[in-house]
Amino acid sequence: MSEPLLEIKDLVVEYHTDEADVHALNGISLSLDKGETLGLVGETGAGKTTTALSIMRLLPKKIGEIKNGQILFEGENLLDKTEAQMRLIRGESISMIFQDPMTSLNPVMRVGDQILEALRLHRPDMSKAEQQKKVDEMLEMVGIPAARKREYPHQFSGGMKQRVVIAIALALEPKLLIADEPTTALDVTIQAQVLQMMSDLKTKLDTSMLLITHDLGVVSQTCDKVAVMYAGEVVEYGRAEDIFLGKQHHPYTEGLFGSLPELNATAKRLSPINGLMPDPMALPEGCKFHPRCPHCTERCKKEIPAVHQDGEHMIRCHLMDKEVR
Ligand code: SF4
Repeated sequence: MSEPLLEIKDLVVEYHTDEADVHALNGISLSLDKGETLGLVGETGAGKTTTALSIMRLLPKKIGEIKNGQILFEGENLLDKTEAQMRLIRGESISMIFQDPMTSLNPVMRVGDQILEALRLHRPDMSKAEQQKKVDEMLEMVGIPAARKREYPHQFSGGMKQRVVIAIALALEPKLLIADEPTTALDVTIQAQVLQMMSDLKTKLDTSMLLITHDLGVVSQTCDKVAVMYAGEVVEYGRAEDIFLGKQHHPYTEGLFGSLPELNATAKRLSPINGLMPDPMALPEGCKFHPRCPHCTERCKKEIPAVHQDGEHMIRCHLMDKEVR
């Protein structure tokens, strides 16, 4: 088998605050092959964005610390790279799109110039005319007429702004695109269009994608693999068919399905999960999901569940110790 494009091994991340240490990631492992889309799902606070920021090496300075693990990109550990090397990797090899397009766009710069800026920085080999041609091409590719390159971000709707952000992120044809809730801030009708466009572009440019979302519906439309995260751990991981069609699941995944009415209509799943994600400064002992789990036993409160692997499908739960649930 060929080497994965991205492989995260036993990654542990903490944030240090005045009050206590926040256990943001507690030993996650993931892998993504070339051309694939991996969905990271879970509620707010599960560690999805921390995972993305760790890959980009953009954790908040001073308070964010990678305590353990490796992040292998094309076989090389990103955690060993210097800041200068990472600046090259960001943009050229790995790009990231954030939830709110306005955090990525400069409000006082024409949108065409913002795409051009990335090309000037990273592609000095291209002539000015080639760079301008590429700006036009990228705008057209995301469905914006090239003539609008002279306009400013405020002249675009939310969905169009996010298209501009995607054009900037893909202008350098990165090998990996990390998209953190890229459609959450958009109207529902626009969300579907933007997601479809991202999938089409990903295929066209042969880019792999790490898609962060709290929405399993989005994952079902887009992803080849899925990692379900809870309290800084991956509690279930597998191919999309394992997660959407498989018979066995982590109780948290079942709870996520239970909050999706359209999926719930055809599948017998549990009702939505009660309670809240635990405080990452004071995580529960044993299984971190036990205070919310309808199957919790005394053992779950004390013992950390082992990882159960069936091919590529992984579930971290004591219930899997029994052959039949
Ligand atoms: Fe629920 Fe126990 Fe499984 Fe945790 S280990 S998910 S508490 S059954």
